[in-house]
Amino acid sequence: MYLEKLNPQQRMAVEHGTLIDGSHIAGPLLVIAGAGSGKTNTLAHRVAHLIVKGADPRRILLMTFSRRAAAEMARRVERICRDVLGSNAGVMADALSWSGTFHGIGARLLRDYAEQIGLDPGFTIHDREDSADLMNLIRHDLGFSKTESRFPTKGTCLAIYSRAVNSETALDLVLRDVFPWCATWEKQLRELFACYVEAKQSQNVLDYDDLLLYWAQMVGEAMIAEDIGSRFDHVLVDEYQDTNRLQASILLALKPQGQGLTVVGDDAQSIYSFRAATVRNILDFPAAFSPAANIVTLDRNYRSTQPILAAANAVIDLASERFTKNLWTERQSADRPRLVTVRDEAEQARYVADMVLDNREEGLTLKQQAVLFRASHHSGPLEVELTRRNIPFVKFGGLKFLDSAHVKDMLAALRFAQNPRDRVAGFRLMQILPGVGPSTAQKTLDLMAEDASPISALAAMPAPPRSGEDWTMFVSMLQELKTGKAGWPAEIGLARQWYAPHLERLHEDAATRQADLLQLEQIASGYASRERFLTELTLDPPDATSDQAGVPLLDEDYLILSTIHSAKGQEWTRVFMLNVVDGCIPSDLAVGTTAEIEEERRLLYVAMTRARDGLDLVVPQRFFTYGQNSQGDRHVYASRSRFIPATLLQFFEACSWPQGKSEAAQAQARQVRIDVGARMRGMWR
Ligand code: ATP
Ligand code: MG
Repeated sequence: MYLEKLNPQQRMAVEHGTLIDGSHIAGPLLVIAGAGSGKTNTLAHRVAHLIVKGADPRRILLMTFSRRAAAEMARRVERICRDVLGSNAGVMADALSWSGTFHGIGARLLRDYAEQIGLDPGFTIHDREDSADLMNLIRHDLGFSKTESRFPTKGTCLAIYSRAVNSETALDLVLRDVFPWCATWEKQLRELFACYVEAKQSQNVLDYDDLLLYWAQMVGEAMIAEDIGSRFDHVLVDEYQDTNRLQASILLALKPQGQGLTVVGDDAQSIYSFRAATVRNILDFPAAFSPAANIVTLDRNYRSTQPILAAANAVIDLASERFTKNLWTERQSADRPRLVTVRDEAEQARYVADMVLDNREEGLTLKQQAVLFRASHHSGPLEVELTRRNIPFVKFGGLKFLDSAHVKDMLAALRFAQNPRDRVAGFRLMQILPGVGPSTAQKTLDLMAEDASPISALAAMPAPPRSGEDWTMFVSMLQELKTGKAGWPAEIGLARQWYAPHLERLHEDAATRQADLLQLEQIASGYASRERFLTELTLDPPDATSDQAGVPLLDEDYLILSTIHSAKGQEWTRVFMLNVVDGCIPSDLAVGTTAEIEEERRLLYVAMTRARDGLDLVVPQRFFTYGQNSQGDRHVYASRSRFIPATLLQFFEACSWPQGKSEAAQAQARQVRIDVGARMRGMWR
């Protein structure tokens, strides 16, 4: 019986509420507990339990941190249901259709209610880069980039805007507290943001922040809030510590009394304050739903061995502020986590590759191991080493695939066909054509914007000089896509055919890029419609790489490389953490305030608590930097991260690598000369 596998606190959380006439009536519930204590597991059990007890899976709203986490949750729910009710239950759990990220769910609801809130349901979504591009166009149009010297960059402008929106804070306060060096431009920024909002509206595009903002606005209207709230009997949220104020206010609007609301989280793992997430949401939950709120804490960790947990607890114990208690575990082991000193990043890469292969010899698959790092570029030398040794890997976080120009071009074509008012997409697309530059593109988009049916207007325009045939092909591709006759996913094939000659012309490595586009088509065929594909892909891109080796097939064995942020909620038997040195963690970019440093400490805690049986923190003594030191050397000497001071060394096994081999022995090995060719020939004689 599935409930018997749970401990008493977990079970309390799973069974919380009363069953009346077949429906489950539950007051607000907060599960607050440390890493690996089974929060996600408990949430999955709760969903399954509700379904088993008769809740309609289509009336359950389940929001988790990432799409990967949501898929994992749906898988677990299905498995538990199947255990209990047999195959029929699996089908029911499949119907758990409202599960995803806050942004993804927001996008779906906004399409449903678009007309009621004066939004065109055909809206497209801008990712961060598109948003920055649009911000830049306007910054330029307003002349700020010319008249104001050292005016904030497009990225900074977007960060300021986003911060103000997500934290529901007035611009002057955001500037004062977070971006003081930009405060002199308050007036200009205000104008820029007003124009940015107008541009988005006239082009019918929403950015990430809008998905939450419009959602929050929409449920600010009591009638709509009630309507949406009443569509869901249960609303469950994982990783609640990473929600921001807007998300909390959305939940409050949907479930004002907290009926059917369950949130789980861990304040020690709050690592998204740069996106305005606030741990206050968790801490204020009891007060927001007083006196009805129920709180369950979990204190047994099921993931890690005792020595790993002890080390992680020791690291987080030095935090200046935290609320969840230390965890305990019954998983004994004699192996302490290792603190491995290596000479530099190249050696770090060799160390990890060697160990990963050793572990595989001992029976662990590659998938049971992961390499984590603070910043995406930290894995560069390791990626090269793995490729050299033919060790397949997949990288999470810092996507290569969807950021590449050719993939973005294709997506722009689909997006522009979907929504011809999307200027960023159109601007990008037209300039692919030979003879079309920024000003022609701008002018064309202006003319299109004035017309009620922009694509027909485009078709009626004369082709710009020097682009005749290409222009015609472009227009007919758009017209064809617009009709939707080809159907999905054949449409993406149409766009690819149109794009192929341009790809040949623009890129030397056209063949590799073509392979990427085929892969994109493959990914696309998994979605029901163009609109769904674009929405999901912009919101939460699937993990893929565009290296020559191609992406390993899903059933193949591969090593996971991940930023700590993207490793959230996951676990591996063995974990390697790269560059555990000051400057990398805490990052040089995040040592301004105590709050920033504390967040970096929590990041290390998140990384360490991903490990089940083995944890290696690697400390290169020198690492490469983009700057140069006074000797013109691009290496700087590094010291062990400040989060592992001398007092914590007792929790680790300190070692250096390569072990035992003296320099002399290494030098000797290099002296040996053998004639491999002769040996090979000898094998056949
Ligand atoms: P994180 O804070 O990292 O998100 P979590 O609290 O969500 O962690 P889970 O991922 O749900 O923790 O669980 C951690 C591990 O412990 C999983 O492998 C899970 O299967 C296991 N686990 C959880 N509860 C139990 C239990 N009652 N009995 C046995 N194993 C359990
Ligand atoms: Mg979890």
